Amino acid sequence: MRRAGRVVAEIMDATRRAIRPGVTTGELDTVARGVLEARGARSNFLNYHGFPAVICTSPNSMIVHGIPGDHVLAEGDIISIDCGAIVEGYHGDAAYTAPVGEVSALAVRLMEATERSLWAGVDVMQPGNRLHEIGRAVQGVAEAAGFSVVRKYVGHAIGTAMHEEPAVPNYWPGDAGPKLKAGNVFAVEPMVNAGGPDTVELADGWSVVTADGSLSAHFEHTIAITDDGPEVLTRP
Ligand code: MG
Ligand code: MG
Repeated sequence: MRRAGRVVAEIMDATRRAIRPGVTTGELDTVARGVLEARGARSNFLNYHGFPAVICTSPNSMIVHGIPGDHVLAEGDIISIDCGAIVEGYHGDAAYTAPVGEVSALAVRLMEATERSLWAGVDVMQPGNRLHEIGRAVQGVAEAAGFSVVRKYVGHAIGTAMHEEPAVPNYWPGDAGPKLKAGNVFAVEPMVNAGGPDTVELADGWSVVTADGSLSAHFEHTIAITDDGPEVLTRP
């Protein structure tokens, strides 16, 4: 899983360097395909329930699951990139939101708070702590910044499949959940909206946007719990 994580980190680096006004989301997918091919890794996104690309590209008010294509990035946009890789049967999964050129102060604050909420979640991933303390930490940071956490889509355990049980909510679901143990690996992935938490799925059957049209950001890492604490496998 460390090896899969390193490939995912490389995809994040390569796509981040390619983001600029005028580039299409389809071109970012091509960049990601190049990394997978160069590393001999397989895509866990391509053909997942029929998904047609190796990354998800979700601009502005789109939260997750956007399909790369002819959409041209414009100055002032933010763009969320979700990506993954399989190496010898083991999965990695990560996401980030990046600015396209100069963006609004609100967009900067939203991205910063969302990334900080992810790291607050990582910090509590110690053996013996409870799973849902992750979501409580994420939610605390996001809401203190004046934003809301998406409820409908959540993080997940990950291993020989991308999405394994249990789910990892980005909010306190009302109970503490199971104990974290060394050897557990989770994809923690706060989706944070500048407005309300409600979501709408578009007619393409994939793209998920904020119900109120507000901006949304998404940061994710694959994190192993070790006896020494959290090890972030997809750290760039
Ligand atoms: Mg992901
Ligand atoms: Mg994920």
